[in-house]
Amino acid sequence: MKPSIELKSVNSFGINACAYELHRADSVSVLCDLWQQAIAKQYPVLLLGSGSNVLFTDNFHGSVILNRIKGIDIQETADSWHIYAGAGENWHQFIEFLLNKSIYGLENLALIPGCVGSAPIQNIGAYGMELKNVCEYVDIVQLDNGEVSRLSTVECEFGYRDSIFKHQYRDNYAIIGVGFKLSKIWTPILAYGDLSQLDRTTITPQKVFNTICATRRSKLPDPEQLGNAGSFFKNPIVSATIAKNIRQDFPNCPQFFQANGHVKLAAGWLIDMCGLKGYQLGGAAVHIHQALVLINQDSATGMDIVNLAAIIRKKVFQRFSVLLEPEVRFMGINGEIDSVECIS
Ligand SMILES: Cc1cc2nc3c(=O)[nH]c(=O)nc-3n(C[C@H](O)[C@H](O)[C@H](O)COP(=O)(O)OP(=O)(O)OC[C@H]3O[C@@H](n4cnc5c(N)ncnc54)[C@H](O)[C@@H]3O)c2cc1C
Repeated sequence: MKPSIELKSVNSFGINACAYELHRADSVSVLCDLWQQAIAKQYPVLLLGSGSNVLFTDNFHGSVILNRIKGIDIQETADSWHIYAGAGENWHQFIEFLLNKSIYGLENLALIPGCVGSAPIQNIGAYGMELKNVCEYVDIVQLDNGEVSRLSTVECEFGYRDSIFKHQYRDNYAIIGVGFKLSKIWTPILAYGDLSQLDRTTITPQKVFNTICATRRSKLPDPEQLGNAGSFFKNPIVSATIAKNIRQDFPNCPQFFQANGHVKLAAGWLIDMCGLKGYQLGGAAVHIHQALVLINQDSATGMDIVNLAAIIRKKVFQRFSVLLEPEVRFMGINGEIDSVECIS
């Protein structure tokens, strides 16, 4: 049977893939029911929030369930706000909602597409902040029996674009809500990008929020206009020796020293140095201004993007001996596939 339900509108790359079924779950019980019904039909199941971190490499021969569990609850103690948000809340709107209630601390993560429930999965980060800095706990449901449990921040095992939800709790579990702890004393994080130009004496959360939104709008292509999934590759983390060798040949190479002695490199810079900005393959292309963003330039297929990513990985390796790994999750006929293997 050929899948016929279109997924173009539920993935930010705008890939024209199809599935057998597409459902929306607005409660935990509906989510579990839909999952169990699909399993009973022997369909693979794919949970999605907004589809802004996935690449469909093929049609999906299964059931897609969009998590739309909503609801926001706010409690306070003397020094903190404790907020619970349903996994299906829109991430950016959630930040705006809190800002309007004078609850601050998430501004640096403004305008990242996606749902609240997806944010812990890759520990979203931007402008000097990561989700793990504000996450108090994550609630999950075991889909085959409906059992709900709560994981503390430590149990989430957050890392750079990583968490336990990409590993142990990947299959048969869904995130249903996220708890946040935000201090009532606001401490701006202004070390990165355009934020460092702001006047610290007059800074406000709203100014940080506005600056982030304006910067992101000017730098990143809007998926509504040009399909993309943000940064396609993770920034590679290499040994100090490799970093030193690269610096000898490329003195301008941006390098960020990590607490464990390793060094983070900027994947976009490496791609740019290979002269790949604007490079096109089939309907896919490297964004002309942001080398780290691959775009659906002209009715790209998922495989156009995969083939382009493979070329980029090869060229970066030839030049720098560094292997890039995708940040974006690849979805094949039966579910997630190994993205590194796919582009190797
Ligand atoms: C223009 C643009 C800019 C971006 N900028 C950033 C950035 O600055 N920083 C950053 O970190 N990311 C960024 N991203 C990536 C993306 O926005 C984040 O990864 C976001 O958290 C994905 O949310 P989503 O709801 O779209 O997840 P989806 O793409 O729907 O899902 C992502 C993965 O999580 C799984 N999943 C989704 N919901 C659940 C659930 N409830 N339970 C269990 N598993 C689930 C899916 O199966 C999939 O494997 C950007 C993307 C775009 C398009």
